[in-house]
Amino acid sequence: MVMQIIRSIPDMQKTMLALRAQPDCRIGFVPTMGCLHEGHLSLIRQVRRLGCLPVVSLFVNPIQFGPREDFSRYPRPFDHDCRLCEQEGAAYLFAPSAEEMYPSGASVFVEETKLSGGLCGAARPGHFRGVTTVVTKLFQIVQPHVAAFGRKDAQQARIIAHLTACLNMPVEIEICPIVREPDGLAMSSRNRYLTPVERAQSVGLVEALREAAGLYRSGETGAAALIRAMEERLRQQGLLIPEYVAVVDYASLQPVETVGPSTLCALAVKVGSTRLIDNLLINAAGETVL
Ligand code: AMP
Repeated sequence: MVMQIIRSIPDMQKTMLALRAQPDCRIGFVPTMGCLHEGHLSLIRQVRRLGCLPVVSLFVNPIQFGPREDFSRYPRPFDHDCRLCEQEGAAYLFAPSAEEMYPSGASVFVEETKLSGGLCGAARPGHFRGVTTVVTKLFQIVQPHVAAFGRKDAQQARIIAHLTACLNMPVEIEICPIVREPDGLAMSSRNRYLTPVERAQSVGLVEALREAAGLYRSGETGAAALIRAMEERLRQQGLLIPEYVAVVDYASLQPVETVGPSTLCALAVKVGSTRLIDNLLINAAGETVL
């Protein structure tokens, strides 16, 4: 099936409503900002695995970037992204312009007020308001049965799951594993900003999380001890001033003192001018999942 590229909201909505009317058709939505890599492609594969028709969006959402962030330099390799989506079997690609999504006069925003304050939300005021607004709009346009998000952005995924529950949106949220480079660095569109020296330093994020995982597996349950070990490992890699190194409850995203099942160790570090995030989940069964 040839992938169809749609840029207008009414066209997309009409097409998706027609699909939804077909018996047995389940729409599996993968929202992205483009510059696609294996992490994004794993989400497309996951919705296919669930028996859904994959629909991808490419939209660099201006309202989730702060004034000093990388909105204008965010990479937009459109033809490359189209090729990858088509290769993965995406049926539709929705790629609206910023004017299409936010015509002048747009004055309604969706804000989550409990999970959004800490971690990345503390350092990026307004970021999650931008995310929850665009995801709500995209869900209205695409009307998906299932939408897939990566655990790479763990706070975002939790906020979106909570958003859909609180606003009674009829969509299932699928949270997918983190896809990593061979040395463990979490894949990210922003990795391409890194100089060779910074790229070598960046492995410090996953090394810090491995350190925390090892400590936990050897019986350490003090969050403070895990945080100290992660900070120390970051320091050894020359990553001196992390934005945050946190140990939180995976559901509430509130800091915990004791580490156990459903705990998230999360960190954000500026490597040069590039902000990177990563996390380790201790799942409900008590297993460490990078
Ligand atoms: P982005 O284009 O950065 O907004 O990401 C779009 C989706 O891909 C989000 O749900 C991300 O969490 C997910 N994603 C990005 N990087 C990865 C990765 N390395 N592994 C799994 N999912 C990812």
